Amino acid sequence: MKIYNAIGYLIILCYLLACMYAAPARLGPWDGLFIGAVYFVFCWFLAGLYLADILHLGIAHRSLDYKEWFIKAVTVVNNVFGIYVEPVSWVNRHRLHHKNSDHDGDPNKVDSDNFWRTAYLCVFPYRCQEDLASDDILKSRTFRIVGNPFFMIAVQVFSFYLLWKIAGSLKFALVMWFGMRIFAWWVNMIQNYWTHSRNFGYRRYDDERDNAMNIGEWLPVTATFSACLQNNHHHYPTLLRLSHDKSEYDFGFITVKFMKGLGLVKATTRGAQIPPDVPLAALDF
Ligand SMILES: [Zn+2]
Repeated sequence: MKIYNAIGYLIILCYLLACMYAAPARLGPWDGLFIGAVYFVFCWFLAGLYLADILHLGIAHRSLDYKEWFIKAVTVVNNVFGIYVEPVSWVNRHRLHHKNSDHDGDPNKVDSDNFWRTAYLCVFPYRCQEDLASDDILKSRTFRIVGNPFFMIAVQVFSFYLLWKIAGSLKFALVMWFGMRIFAWWVNMIQNYWTHSRNFGYRRYDDERDNAMNIGEWLPVTATFSACLQNNHHHYPTLLRLSHDKSEYDFGFITVKFMKGLGLVKATTRGAQIPPDVPLAALDF
């Protein structure tokens, strides 16, 4: 088993065992496991929807055109109840990551950064040298409020307090809150380290300018909503799907197609354009 998969499965196993151990006596271990699993799925799914589907393909690359109320609703719900991620600086960092991938100016990581350095950068990224996030929606009242540092502190205190009340135990709430954030760090490391180090994954396109790799196994693709298909994505960053072959499992694309069925999203012109060397007969969107 690949090291990144082993670490991912180990984090999930430790999280679930810790939930069983930390659950208060009135719940018992099995209810503790159930509540921990519900919190895990809730945070993972909401974060994937918010970061990979909406901020990434909807705003940063403008490949998908979402209903504006839906973008704002997911942004508020994720940041109030799930794992807080400041949206405006995320979009800016992501655009700089594409512009300067693995080189000076990439906030996530430069070529010489090792595992531990990249792990640190997931929490404290390099300072952005440019502002590429001046989109109208990022200047809207919702995004200005969500991006406010006081809002950030208030919602994190609130979401922890709410979890504490639901869990009925401080110890159990601490295990779920920090456990989920350790898993989020692993998801971040899949994108920033393991798919940007040439020793892992595979390449469809031999791009010299970056170290982007594709990782295609079930756990990383599901966990990242397909953002680990980095070599495909860096080669054609505006295409609305990150899998470039029918054989590549693409969980993120499944979720986007589901939202299209609900009328929440449609393709933009740039997002729907299949470049000639992508081996897809049709976009299937
Ligand atoms: Zn991107």
